[in-house]
Amino acid sequence: MPLVSAYSPGKLGLSFELYPPRDTAGMDDLFANLTELIQFRPSFVTCTYGAGGSTRDKTLDIAARVRREFGLPVAAHLTCVGATPSDLRAYLDDAAARGIEGIVALRGDPPKGEAAFRATDGGFRHADELVRFIRSEHPGFSVVVAGYPEKHLEAPDFETDLDHLKRKVDAGADFVISQLFYRNDDFFRFRDRCAATGIRVPIVPGILPVTSLKQIKRISAMCGATLPDEFLTRLEFQAGDPKGQFDVGVYFATRQVEGLVEAGCPGIHFYVLNKSQATATIMRALTLFPRDE
Ligand SMILES: Cc1cc2nc3c(=O)[nH]c(=O)nc-3n(C[C@H](O)[C@H](O)[C@H](O)COP(=O)(O)OP(=O)(O)OC[C@H]3O[C@@H](n4cnc5c(N)ncnc54)[C@H](O)[C@@H]3O)c2cc1C
Repeated sequence: MPLVSAYSPGKLGLSFELYPPRDTAGMDDLFANLTELIQFRPSFVTCTYGAGGSTRDKTLDIAARVRREFGLPVAAHLTCVGATPSDLRAYLDDAAARGIEGIVALRGDPPKGEAAFRATDGGFRHADELVRFIRSEHPGFSVVVAGYPEKHLEAPDFETDLDHLKRKVDAGADFVISQLFYRNDDFFRFRDRCAATGIRVPIVPGILPVTSLKQIKRISAMCGATLPDEFLTRLEFQAGDPKGQFDVGVYFATRQVEGLVEAGCPGIHFYVLNKSQATATIMRALTLFPRDE
């Protein structure tokens, strides 16, 4: 089944994003946490691809293991950083041989210490080229691309960024998962502008539940997500209390998800960061998704 079927009419797609941990202990934690999250019946799980291809094998190993142990459809992320077309082809062949259903096709960020992204010789400059490549090499993959409710940091303006997103969709992407954001209105404006630009595929909001003030300041500085003043004030009020910050974050994300689903979003993609506690607490508080008893 193509991954986009998670968003068929009458369905609410739920997906979880994992990342490859550094060591065996992290891997054990990841699978223990995923075991807890499985009760919420995700439609699929994705696994990120480390900077510069550093996690190439681990990404595919984790995706294949999730598929094998939980019987869930999976998507492996892939970036163009430092990769030649033959590197990309080898990854895609490997993913297909392991039965992985989808690829989250990304350009990737410039390596640490480099200001701008540089393609390898014969490599790709933007994600739309990677999408086209995947479509021609392995038409059977589901293909997912990234979208930016507050525009990508490098884009000169919102409209230009949307035109680039449309190129990725026209190149064959099945749906879009958004960058994390904390103001639902940003997402709604993005979704409406996508529709006006002629983007007809599902646009799925990506949610990162905040679990600490320090973490969110770092992440939002990295990707440009704006934190609403009210949210920051509530978090800062809990500055000396990690549990208080966790509770505020979970409360905020629960309300955010409710607002998104009520406004007709086709599903929710959680950046679970390999931890189950925040996502599971949010999911328990929601009555919107089916779950195992
Ligand atoms: C859901 C999601 C998952 C992610 N997973 C990972 C991951 O696993 N590993 C990782 O390293 N990073 C990941 N990222 C981060 C991502 O790699 C960065 O945001 C990166 O800077 C841009 O990748 P992209 O695929 O959006 O690039 P692109 O779509 O290529 O866009 C990059 C910039 O170029 C512009 N642009 C796009 N196409 C064109 C074109 N044809 N001509 C001119 N300009 C163009 C865009 O407007 C934008 O400013 C993820 C992001 C999201 C939202």
